[in-house]
Amino acid sequence: MNTYTSRPAVLCLSGHDPVGGAGLQADIEALIAQGCHATPVITALTIQDTVDVSDFKILEHDWVIAQAQAIVQDMPVSAIKLGMLGSLEMVDTVAQIIQGLADTPFVCDPVLRAGGGGALGKDEVGYALRSKLMPLATIVTPNLPEAQILAELPNGTADKCAQVLLKHCQNLLITGGHGDEHEVHNRLYCADGSSHTFTCARLPGEYHGSGCTLASALSGRLALGEELVSAVQSALNYTWRTLRDAEAPGRGQYIPRRL
Ligand code: PLP
Repeated sequence: MNTYTSRPAVLCLSGHDPVGGAGLQADIEALIAQGCHATPVITALTIQDTVDVSDFKILEHDWVIAQAQAIVQDMPVSAIKLGMLGSLEMVDTVAQIIQGLADTPFVCDPVLRAGGGGALGKDEVGYALRSKLMPLATIVTPNLPEAQILAELPNGTADKCAQVLLKHCQNLLITGGHGDEHEVHNRLYCADGSSHTFTCARLPGEYHGSGCTLASALSGRLALGEELVSAVQSALNYTWRTLRDAEAPGRGQYIPRRL
């Protein structure tokens, strides 16, 4: 055992996806690929396949707190990655955990829908996340449909949504904005007022767990000490490669190949 070369630990608070495309399995795999160690705290269990989600069950407050305590009392946490919450109560539970880890880089992925469109929480969960968790985050990573829900602008562009959401968070990455038919535009809005557009080639197909992969890779990069804009670029590049190499093990969406 060599305690001097431990990889940075990232506290992941996310749901479990039994087909292994999204949720905690995505977090673990993406973090291993960055050279980090994932410490997964389960917030919810889901029943889903690669087509869609049919149900989910939220863990009790005490169980989530106890899982997180077991980790933070045992090892230093170098970053936090937040995924599926599922309920208003879970927003408060997670806020309690994160308030105890002030100054730790915190990537907030506002998960409201599964890849197939099924709900993983009511929109009110998103509004509670907006007021209670986004202000604590280093960066928030909605895709455009999530940004439109959180900004309450159903057809808003990324720029319009960002104007609203930057009142609630420091840094914001809105993914999946439409360029032309061959390109995807991902826009980063920074606390210093600068913005950056990262353009990548649009890949065919639908993917299950792309948002989880990106947010986890980003939390890993921040845990390793990479500066924000560079960390976003690295995480986007990594995620794009996992989608390019995605597999189709089931009847529905492709699963990113993260390792
Ligand atoms: N977290 C869990 C537990 C999920 O089941 C899902 C989707 O099914 C997500 C997050 C979000 O997935 P994506 O990365 O495709 O947005």
